[in-house]
Amino acid sequence: MIKTAFEDMCVIMQRDINQPTFEDLELLAEVSQLLTVVDLDSVLQKVVQLAGQAVGASKTSLFLHNDEHIDWKHIITMRDLPPDKSVKVVNQVMGDGFAGWVYRNKRGDIISDTEADDRWIVFPDDLLVTRSAMCVPFMYEGTIIAMITLVHEKPNQFRPYHLRLMEIIANQATIAIRNAQLFNRVNVQRQQLEVVLQAITDVLLVLDEHGKIRMVNNAALPLLGATSHDAVIGQALASFAIGDDVIAPIVEIIKAALVEQNRWAFETRSDHHQTDYQVTMAVWEDPQHEQRGYVVVMHNVTTLHDLSRFKDEMLRVATHDLRSPLALISGYADMVRLDIGDPEHIVNEYVNIIKTTTETMSSLVDDLLRVERVRASPLELREQTDMTSLVKVVIVNSRPFAKVKNITFETDIQLDGVPRIVADPVLIRQSMENLVSNAFKYTPENGLVTVRAHFDAKKFYFAVEDNGIGIPKEHQAYVFESFYRVEQARYKEKGSGLGLSLVKNVIVRHDGEVWVKSEEGKGSRFGFWLPLKAKTDDVETIETDAIPTESNQQNGINLAAK
Ligand code: ADP
Repeated sequence: MIKTAFEDMCVIMQRDINQPTFEDLELLAEVSQLLTVVDLDSVLQKVVQLAGQAVGASKTSLFLHNDEHIDWKHIITMRDLPPDKSVKVVNQVMGDGFAGWVYRNKRGDIISDTEADDRWIVFPDDLLVTRSAMCVPFMYEGTIIAMITLVHEKPNQFRPYHLRLMEIIANQATIAIRNAQLFNRVNVQRQQLEVVLQAITDVLLVLDEHGKIRMVNNAALPLLGATSHDAVIGQALASFAIGDDVIAPIVEIIKAALVEQNRWAFETRSDHHQTDYQVTMAVWEDPQHEQRGYVVVMHNVTTLHDLSRFKDEMLRVATHDLRSPLALISGYADMVRLDIGDPEHIVNEYVNIIKTTTETMSSLVDDLLRVERVRASPLELREQTDMTSLVKVVIVNSRPFAKVKNITFETDIQLDGVPRIVADPVLIRQSMENLVSNAFKYTPENGLVTVRAHFDAKKFYFAVEDNGIGIPKEHQAYVFESFYRVEQARYKEKGSGLGLSLVKNVIVRHDGEVWVKSEEGKGSRFGFWLPLKAKTDDVETIETDAIPTESNQQNGINLAAK
């Protein structure tokens, strides 16, 4: 006993006269190495490990005071207690215990014997017997950012030398923790910015002054035809301009390298994606004026363009397609009124002309209203729809039209076992009928029209084939647009140019796709597919076998009515 105490005293004396051992110096060197570590968790773990090792503690805990709040996560991991208990323990320790004392006094201290010091709180469920303890604050600019508590099961384990050593370690570690916290914060901010940029639905491109891509958001990838950010970063934007002119104006501006201008606004169109963009382009420059480049934001204005086109067409319809028949009606009405002494059958003929003209007008106005309704309102009805029965009804309803022009009407239906589709059966049936009625309309007498329907694991397919007048290649991309009519058809058949746009609206709103293949003079194939599983699983569906007939279609749109 006497020998040990003597030895201890020697150690204290030796240490107190500031003669650190080689191991101590090595330890301090290791602590200063922490300055290069930027990961906060690694810094904290290393500090705990080195501190415990430096003073021979049997357990070490670190309380991290993270800006305004204590980082409970670290406390919890150090205490090996379930979170609720740990938080309670820490609250008490910080209030009445040793750590609280150090926190309030802003200086480290030693408890040589926990049984003789009332700052030490013993918890009934404490597994570890603690007889000596040491707690040191980590100070940064006058405030405590962390505290380390080291304990030992024997009394008198920690000496003033240990306290001094811990204070030196704490000074170094404080800077390392601060660095890591700062790095963490910058990192979090960078990640937040990244998340925000990626969430923006507009296309965002950040370029250097030579037009090389520095950053893009997710919305930009499809436009550039890329699937990953890595595939585009560092590449010249010009290399993505092949096959689509959409980014050509941006590339031109960069090439021209205009110094007197630093902001541009223009419109561009991707023919490949059938999308119109409003582009805003501006020069960016770092505060040191060492680097500069361009930031480009592309806002999708296709809907606006479509609306504007739609409005123009409405005006054209109102001024031409509705005004001319009105003039006709007015003229015939005048003639009836003039009572020119004509026999009754002439008056009847005038009245009939007035009647058919008003019917044409009324059907045109109806079509316009239907387009607007399908475009703007939610799908009213969604049912588990049996596609086999639906296709059969379409075929039965269409047969009379085939007879009128003596057209051979063939069918190729392979729908045995097709699952039901959650859909609006009225709209889908009318879309099918519209494609079939177009085929009859644009196929000369004695022609051939074939309706095909089949399915696979994912999709239901419907197509109508004819050997009619066909559609010239340059018109094919536009036939689904509202009011679009191919000239040659315009002369031959009456129509509004709204049917196919309605079909497209209906199918797209059912998450499907429409398509056309045609050759002028040879015939056309129009079709669409629908997903067998609806995307929106939350739609309320009604189980029904009822297939809409002419009598219950009042609520829907009759696409076939032209
Ligand atoms: P509408 O038939 O009233 O003109 P649609 O929107 O149904 O309007 O069709 C748009 C245009 O597409 C038609 O005017 C016609 O030029 C062309 N078209 C549609 N279906 C066919 C077809 N089966 N064969 C040839 N041309 C077609």
